Amino acid sequence: MKRIYLDHNATTPLHPKVEKKLKESLSYFANPSALYQSARHIKYELEEARESIASIIGAKADQIIFNSGATEGNNHILSQLKPKEHLIISSIEHSSTIQAAHYLSKNGIEVSYCPVLKSGVIDLNRLKKLIKPNTKLISIIYANNETGCIQPIKDVIELAKEHHCKIHSDAVQALGKLKLDLNQTDLDYCTLSAHKIGGPKGIGALFIKNPNSFKSMIKGPYQEKGLRPGTENILGIIGFKTAIEHCNPLAYQSHCQPLKQFLIDKLANLNPIIFGNQAHCLAGTLYMGFQNTDGHNTAIQLDLQGIEVSTGSACSVGAIEPSTILKAMQIPDSINRSAIRVSMNQNNTKEEIKQLITSLSSIISKSS
Ligand code: PMP
Repeated sequence: MKRIYLDHNATTPLHPKVEKKLKESLSYFANPSALYQSARHIKYELEEARESIASIIGAKADQIIFNSGATEGNNHILSQLKPKEHLIISSIEHSSTIQAAHYLSKNGIEVSYCPVLKSGVIDLNRLKKLIKPNTKLISIIYANNETGCIQPIKDVIELAKEHHCKIHSDAVQALGKLKLDLNQTDLDYCTLSAHKIGGPKGIGALFIKNPNSFKSMIKGPYQEKGLRPGTENILGIIGFKTAIEHCNPLAYQSHCQPLKQFLIDKLANLNPIIFGNQAHCLAGTLYMGFQNTDGHNTAIQLDLQGIEVSTGSACSVGAIEPSTILKAMQIPDSINRSAIRVSMNQNNTKEEIKQLITSLSSIISKSS
């Protein structure tokens, strides 16, 4: 039985072109910092990847540094803050941002959390009220990984500029799904990760508008202009470049939106509680709960039938914790615990969605 993968917000399979390119590049071993020919060739590939990734997102090559992914990227941005400075993040950030902010708050940095509306979109009025004279950075996720809710980044940027604060967005889930153009979207910092767009795991990039005023988080040699020391992950970088070159947000949207609508329509008789305002949602993400059911149980039952989705809640020290994102959206715990997330990409077919509908209908009607 061919398994049906519907968890693309967690990670994606390698794009076939990425797989091919990686196989061709497996023999690249020289250290790009060396002077000899084989190293110069690799250095060339590295800089070409930087140019390509930068131009696709509307940035300049010297504004991009490579790292191990968005967890590092989010930590790196927040690490720029100094004691007594004020940071605002939303209450629906990825846990890498939330945990980094918790750490900073224990080390003299003031942290405020901007609430979200029940729609899953941040409350701009509350954000405005949180800004203070010492607010240095506002960090708001571009599109949330659980709900898929797209945040009003342009309004946040405007607000940040008015108050002379720097603005960061974790754009991991937006990349490849929305048109990301940093020429039009005037962010100071932006974090990206390759494995959500068909690239390899363990490679990401940080966009830094003014790299001169930025500091490394770790000590070491001069790779990435000293901002991210360590021998570069060349295969990862080549894979990232190939993956981003094959992204097509419009194709993703026009393929996934009708599939999602079909799923919503066919599930209507099960009375799902759909989380997040669908008018501001990634085309391929559907996050929902069902009365009197348990999301883990639903996901396990689906898995037994060959269908892979994720739940909202997380296992932590043996206990199942409800989703913090749904908590922030004031979803009651009983519904929160029933959440499952379906996240598609261009390769999912209507046939697969039909199988999901059949399986989910029988699981939910038996358990609720
Ligand atoms: N931010 C968001 C929104 C994500 O979805 C993820 C991955 N789950 C990350 C950050 C972390 O990215 P990485 O796996 O590259 O560390």
